[in-house]
Amino acid sequence: MKIRGICYRCGAEDELIDGLCPICYAQEHPLIEVPERVEIEVCHMCGSYKRKIWQTPKSEDAYEILYEIAYYATKDAIKKKSVMVDFEIYPKITQLPGGKRSKLIIPVHIVAKGRLPGEKEDRTYEKDIEVHLQMVQCPRCSRFMSNYYEATLQVRAMNRYLTEEEREELDNFVREELAKRLKKDRMAFIAKFIPQKEGLDYQLGSVGAARNVAQKIKERYGGKITETATLVGVDRNTGKDLYRVTVSVRIPEYKVGDVVEYKDRYYQVTSITEDKVYMKSIDYRREKIGLSWHVAEKETKMVKKNEELDTATVIATTPNIMVMDDKNYEVYEFDNIGDLEVKEGDKVKILKKEGVPYLVNKVKEDKNKK
Ligand SMILES: [Zn+2]
Ligand SMILES: [Zn+2]
Repeated sequence: MKIRGICYRCGAEDELIDGLCPICYAQEHPLIEVPERVEIEVCHMCGSYKRKIWQTPKSEDAYEILYEIAYYATKDAIKKKSVMVDFEIYPKITQLPGGKRSKLIIPVHIVAKGRLPGEKEDRTYEKDIEVHLQMVQCPRCSRFMSNYYEATLQVRAMNRYLTEEEREELDNFVREELAKRLKKDRMAFIAKFIPQKEGLDYQLGSVGAARNVAQKIKERYGGKITETATLVGVDRNTGKDLYRVTVSVRIPEYKVGDVVEYKDRYYQVTSITEDKVYMKSIDYRREKIGLSWHVAEKETKMVKKNEELDTATVIATTPNIMVMDDKNYEVYEFDNIGDLEVKEGDKVKILKKEGVPYLVNKVKEDKNKK
């Protein structure tokens, strides 16, 4: 609804909005509202900045980080006066931060375009503001600096110590997984790394990270996770009990190919999964079973590593399998139940226990290292 009349501000005769001509209306009603000076907290240690919550900058380049900070500080401070308004933000980075105490002011030019309800045409509104960076220490960095940690991740093996190779491999694995996690969880930092004789301990800034990495280890190596919490005090701010959590992940004692004992029988491990170990008896029954790690940890015992098993050479396959021990040339005979598919001349692995020989499996040429 347009009413022609006299503008009460300038006296011109025109179509009026709220008693004002379009020019006066535009001057009295900017498209956006934004303060001349916007403040934002920025961590001088890690470059993160506080919007509603603390944000890790997307870039690692100082110039780009400042641009990002000025952009979001401005964006968050702008109030659009109508849905028909769009704006562009142009931060002008002229200086880089010079440490803890330096003041940093970033001039920002804003161009808004659009119209308010009742206006016939789009118009442009430009404004220059300043973004003031307040250099502080973010909660994460201050916790990190005060050796704060929320959880301990313990990496262990069942019933034995981790080997040197495992320590190195698992340490790399933990650090890689934490680096991935850090993108989503800013507290996924290592406050302290404590190597123990039995395994590796990591004090971490977040319980979630400890659980996540333990789960990743279990998915990859199999094993068991246990969690315990210790009351360490009361949060001064919230009055809630404060717990420190220990997440312990134990990888299996043995590997695929190793021979283990379970309920007085011998088995060769055939596969290891996140939740179970599968194995096959090496006696005449050649029975396949699967045990949960919970059972396996308590009820199985390592007998011999695959690479430490003796070898023998097949000298006959019918009716029974006859093999000759490669060490002492003794000949042993086993029932041929058809699950080994050996022929004369093949190498097999054998286990001798209390004078009784067991035929473990055929040596696979391609997988045999030596
Ligand atoms: Zn006017
Ligand atoms: Zn920080």
